[in-house]
Amino acid sequence: MQQYYSMVLIIKFFLLLSLFTFCQGKNTNTWEEEYPFIKNASSFSSVAKIKEYDYIIVGGGTAGCPLAATLSRNFKVLVLERGGVPYGNKNTSLKNFHINLADTSPNSPAQLFVVEGVFNVRPRILGGGSSINAGFYSRPSLRSLMELGLDPKLAYKSYPWVEKQIVQWPVLNPWQSAIRSALLQVGITPDNGYSYEHLYGTKIGGTIFDKDGIRHGAAELLKSANPKNLDVLIRATAQKIVFDQSSGKPRAVGVIFKDENGEQHEAILSNYNKSEVILSSGAIGSPQLLLLSGIGAKAELEQMNISVVLNNQFVGKGMADNPQNNLIVPFNRLVAQSLVQTVGITREGVYIEAIVRKWKV
Ligand SMILES: Cc1cc2nc3c(=O)[nH]c(=O)nc-3n(C[C@H](O)[C@H](O)[C@H](O)COP(=O)(O)OP(=O)(O)OC[C@H]3O[C@@H](n4cnc5c(N)ncnc54)[C@H](O)[C@@H]3O)c2cc1C
Repeated sequence: MQQYYSMVLIIKFFLLLSLFTFCQGKNTNTWEEEYPFIKNASSFSSVAKIKEYDYIIVGGGTAGCPLAATLSRNFKVLVLERGGVPYGNKNTSLKNFHINLADTSPNSPAQLFVVEGVFNVRPRILGGGSSINAGFYSRPSLRSLMELGLDPKLAYKSYPWVEKQIVQWPVLNPWQSAIRSALLQVGITPDNGYSYEHLYGTKIGGTIFDKDGIRHGAAELLKSANPKNLDVLIRATAQKIVFDQSSGKPRAVGVIFKDENGEQHEAILSNYNKSEVILSSGAIGSPQLLLLSGIGAKAELEQMNISVVLNNQFVGKGMADNPQNNLIVPFNRLVAQSLVQTVGITREGVYIEAIVRKWKV
């Protein structure tokens, strides 16, 4: 009998031990513990111990975060991001997609702007567009890679790095399933099943939302960074790139930015001969910063009293909206909300997708 009780005790002990190790395995860290290199911009001091960086990345968005993570493996990197963090922000979830986009408060992650009467939003949050967008993931077409002058072999080698960390297959929602059947019925074929590739026909693509609707954007790629080599400043708005013009050929040497209290700081590049200021501030933010720094059409800069560093007539030009046609289908009963999971890509260049949102009239 005594032997029986000691056996029960031993089993209980192991059960408790396994429960303890299970709880330890579960990640209960705060984002500050998980990403110790992310700090408020006001923590940066250009007066105290001056730090120099091999690369200063302006804009910690969809492109900026993975770039920072990979460069930090071998170089000292600083990221300046004007927004806050997405970690734990309930508004970035699938359920709150539309609520987030409709938030027009001054610190909203979705900054409203209107051009020629058309309402639009710009991301203002670490992770950029990937922290507020519809979360559909697809690889670009080979043609787009070639047009951008990128090495397709290197691109294909890089995709799994992102996909393993933040992309998954969606659990197909009934409405998305109906759209898929409809696309195939109207002849947007072949049926490409599940695919990350950009293919003509109908396919189910990847998503950065998990089965609980939690978003896993580019800001999570910072987990792969070397924390010793990386500083990420949030609420840091870059105002101007600083150039050394002494040799006649302007060379970027630093960036002036404003912190969350309106104080100005200057981050500087190291003497490393390949050091660079990299602009990944988005389609609007990058040319805007170039213009503010004196790179753009001479006459236009002079008109704004900006000293000209380099006369380049193309900066900020050639911007165009993607023409979009919306077809709104009202339902007389509740349909589960869904963002893009299935798409149709036609040879005529038309791209068809569908989302469902609750709308209170
Ligand atoms: C509503 C919406 C839905 C979308 N849905 C999808 C989708 O489902 N799938 C898809 O593939 N694409 C989607 N997109 C597009 C996609 O999100 C963008 O193409 C992508 O995020 C662009 O990446 P980026 O790195 O160039 O810029 P961004 O991700 O915009 O990053 C730029 C970053 O720079 C920061 N920044 C700007 N200026 C400054 C400054 N002066 N100082 C410091 N920081 C600055 C911004 O705060 C931002 O974080 C969607 C976009 C929107 C708006």
